[in-house]
Amino acid sequence: MLDYVDLEADLGPEERLIRDTTREFVDERIRPEIAAHYEAGTFPTELIPEMGEMGFYAPNLEGYGLPNVSETAYGVLMQELEACDSGLRSMASVQGALVMYPIHAFGSEAQKERWLPALGDGDAVGCFGLTEPEHGSNPAGMETAAERDGDGYVLDGSKTWITNAPIADVAVVWARDRSHEDDPVRGFLVETDRDGVSTNEITEKLSLRASITGEIGLNDVYVPEGNVLPDVSGMKGPLSCLTQARYGIAWGAVGAARDCFETARAYATDREQFGGPIARYQLQQEKLAEMATAITLAQLLAYRLADLKERGDLRPQHVSMAKRNNVRTARDQARVAREILGGNGITTDYSPMRHMANMETVYTYEGTHDIHTLILGEDLTGIPAYS
Ligand SMILES: Cc1cc2nc3c(=O)[nH]c(=O)nc-3n(C[C@H](O)[C@H](O)[C@H](O)COP(=O)(O)OP(=O)(O)OC[C@H]3O[C@@H](n4cnc5c(N)ncnc54)[C@H](O)[C@@H]3O)c2cc1C
Repeated sequence: MLDYVDLEADLGPEERLIRDTTREFVDERIRPEIAAHYEAGTFPTELIPEMGEMGFYAPNLEGYGLPNVSETAYGVLMQELEACDSGLRSMASVQGALVMYPIHAFGSEAQKERWLPALGDGDAVGCFGLTEPEHGSNPAGMETAAERDGDGYVLDGSKTWITNAPIADVAVVWARDRSHEDDPVRGFLVETDRDGVSTNEITEKLSLRASITGEIGLNDVYVPEGNVLPDVSGMKGPLSCLTQARYGIAWGAVGAARDCFETARAYATDREQFGGPIARYQLQQEKLAEMATAITLAQLLAYRLADLKERGDLRPQHVSMAKRNNVRTARDQARVAREILGGNGITTDYSPMRHMANMETVYTYEGTHDIHTLILGEDLTGIPAYS
């Protein structure tokens, strides 16, 4: 596997073990079926509990039976999952970083006891409802509202593009609390079997097909006070979750890019044209050299991010830079890999075009490439340019 500057040498025994067992699990249990799932637009839901047993959901959190592994171990895990398919990494990112993280960071003890072990084991599935039909890049404009009602709240509104919504047991729904003067954004744990909740699947996707995506309709949904995340108010709640998930994406995208590179390298050394392997031609070698260099730079950024996160110095803007760069790298390199594979490259027999299509989603969700450009622009100049 491409590791041109020997980053493996710095991995500890636990990190190597996690990388190897994840790679093995993915190769044995998921990779043989992933193209069929992609074509069918399905996710191997029967593996969700096994993925829990493997420790794929929020392994970097502590307590409640969670493994509390290093941020590098978490990163290499995300890398191995996305080397198979972005849908697989999305499952782990949503469950871990977008559902378990906010419960762990902002939840009551009762909420933690109720949900963290079940979500960690994959006995329950969660989803994260932030995006709305009219508010994507600007989630602060959200219209979903919570009104006080006795000792609870009534929620109304709709969320869209929600990963796992149709199979979720619980949704972390972000809504404006209209009973407060300044309408603060609050997080609500909404069990999906509550009256008034609907979760329709979005089936017309040409990207991230091995992942289940849906809407969440909230029509006069009552939730008790005990379902409100007590320790956060304002956009800081959802944004801090996004920073966690984007960290995983920055790592995961390198896995997808690496898989494209390895597929292209193997193909180029095997495929013969004009009496020899196409890898002997300088044009193909240039493509492989550029790919290997771009992927190595993305890998270095991901490892550095882990160091910063481990010592508490990671800023959301660092994560923006890495998410933006590494996803762009994966998107660009998937296309080059597809090119090297010629006509065979457009089939599901090979991974690059699937990764390439997936990267259209990854480039867009968790803050589009443009939005991360603006975040960096503001950080570098002190001038916000969003409107
Ligand atoms: C498969 C999939 C799964 C998803 N899963 C989830 C999930 O689990 N939970 C969730 O809450 N959301 C999820 N999302 C939603 C995702 O986060 C949004 O699609 C994303 O934030 C972009 O919002 P939008 O699609 O409304 O695009 P828009 O915000 O309408 O943007 C359209 C275009 O305009 C550009 N743009 C917007 N504002 C500016 C600006 N100020 N300056 C310059 N350009 C700008 C954007 O970069 C983009 O190119 C998912 C999306 C997909 C496709």
